[in-house]
Amino acid sequence: MKVKKDDIVKIKSGKDKGKQGKVMQVFPHEGKVVVENININKRHLRPQKQGEAGQVVEFSAAFDVSKVQLVCPKCGKVTRIGCTLSEDKKKTRICKKCKSSI
Ligand SMILES: [Zn+2]
Repeated sequence: MKVKKDDIVKIKSGKDKGKQGKVMQVFPHEGKVVVENININKRHLRPQKQGEAGQVVEFSAAFDVSKVQLVCPKCGKVTRIGCTLSEDKKKTRICKKCKSSI
C-alpha cells in the first residue's frame, strides 16, 4: 500500500471519478481505502425507541485502492510514488514528478 492516512487522492473510476479527497482510513490487508466525502453510501437506521423516526446516516464506504491516484501535496499533481532509503535507513516516499519527499 502506497497510500497512507491523510494523503490526498484523486478518484480514477466510479461515480466519484475525478474528485479529490483526503484518505481517512486504510485497510492494507483488504487493499481498501476510505476517502472523505467519496463513495457516499446511505444506511437506514431503524428507530431505537417506539415513536422515534428512523434515521438515514451517510458515510464514506471503503473501496479499492486501485481506483485512486495519489496527489502530491507539494506540486499538486497526480503522481506516482517512489521510495528511497535515507541516510538513517528510514524509508522516504518521493513524488516522481517534483522529487520532493512526501
Ligand atoms: Zn510532487
